[in-house]
Amino acid sequence: MNTKSYFGKFGGQYVPETAMFALNELESEYLKAKADPTFQEELNDLLKNYVGRPTPLYHAKNLSAHYGQQIYLKREDLNHTGAHKINNALGQVLLAKRMGKKKVIAETGAGQHGVATATAAALLGLECDVYMGAVDMERQKLNVFRMELLGAHVVAIHDGLKTLKEATTAAIQSWVAEIETVFYVIGSAVGPHPYPSMVKDFQSIIGTECREQLNTLGLHADHVIACVGGGSNAIGIFSGFLDDDTTHLYGVEAGGYGIDTDMHAATLTLGKEGIIHGMKTYVLQDKYGQISPVHSISAGLDYPGVGPQHAHLFESGKATYIPITDAEAMDALVRTTRFEGIIPAIESAHALAYLEKLCPSLPANQTIVVNVSGRGDKDMHTVFSVLKGEKDEI
Ligand SMILES: *Cc1c(COP(=O)(O)O)cnc(C)c1O
Repeated sequence: MNTKSYFGKFGGQYVPETAMFALNELESEYLKAKADPTFQEELNDLLKNYVGRPTPLYHAKNLSAHYGQQIYLKREDLNHTGAHKINNALGQVLLAKRMGKKKVIAETGAGQHGVATATAAALLGLECDVYMGAVDMERQKLNVFRMELLGAHVVAIHDGLKTLKEATTAAIQSWVAEIETVFYVIGSAVGPHPYPSMVKDFQSIIGTECREQLNTLGLHADHVIACVGGGSNAIGIFSGFLDDDTTHLYGVEAGGYGIDTDMHAATLTLGKEGIIHGMKTYVLQDKYGQISPVHSISAGLDYPGVGPQHAHLFESGKATYIPITDAEAMDALVRTTRFEGIIPAIESAHALAYLEKLCPSLPANQTIVVNVSGRGDKDMHTVFSVLKGEKDEI
């Protein structure tokens, strides 16, 4: 067993033999790039001047007063393209270019990873195919158009529930079919090794910056909260605090209609160990081991697996994972908007919603950081439908 590909017992490379060549090539090329100052300089230059990093760590004074705590928001919503995903997409597309690949492919749920990958491909001059479930395409029509405008080809997937899980399966199949010329840009800290570690590395800029920003303020984070779909924004911010036993880490999963229904995506809360998309991790599955259908009001969180490092952090007790329902997330979206004038993505609103539960249980004035993974503009259609009662979304 290749131990560096595992987090505890989770992770690994559960892929067809035909994909092993590409994974090995990716691992060795990534390790070379990681150690190459030229690659790091180019990436850092793009993160600074193209993405707009560092993102602010904003002291949310009104929410702080409301909760009697000191609440800081890590503003990944202010990145170019509106979410944390660009950090990883730029890293991987830059690596693809370095490896001499002509085309990148990606799967997407909310459309955010597709937009981020299409953006990076446009910038760096590579072809781009994005696989997307047909239901997600309907939910995120404008993001589909945005990707096409950026020159990407969006491939509609009509299998199963027509969401992220099926899009990911289709992307893996097409990658295996064209493995020599195509680079598969995975959008979260999931998939076979080395993806979970590589995506963690590219997103760890969030945690590194956040820790430095707190240091500058003379502060120590007592609590760090992030939403978890596949787990990339969460592992990104957690990575700044993993060595520190005095910071509590919370990953917020999609509780959908409630975890007493079967309409949720609370993988660590209710899943079991299994294999999905090339990795061993927690999986929502039935008694036959078939992957369960999942639901979340946010397209970015409705994934039946989770990154293997989170499965390990969960089992080791290093981080705590909590479900938040669609309704609780929508309340938090409105609250954050009214209190701070910041409209978060519905995904990020799950993390903000946990403040309602956490804050009353704490002594006053603890330092709490919430990662605002993205902005809500992409969700206005859903928010409008729910708040104006047009559709029975909740
Ligand atoms: C995709 C997405 C997520 C979920 O993905 P992770 O890999 O779990 O971070 C969260 N927030 C936003 C805004 C997203 O676009």
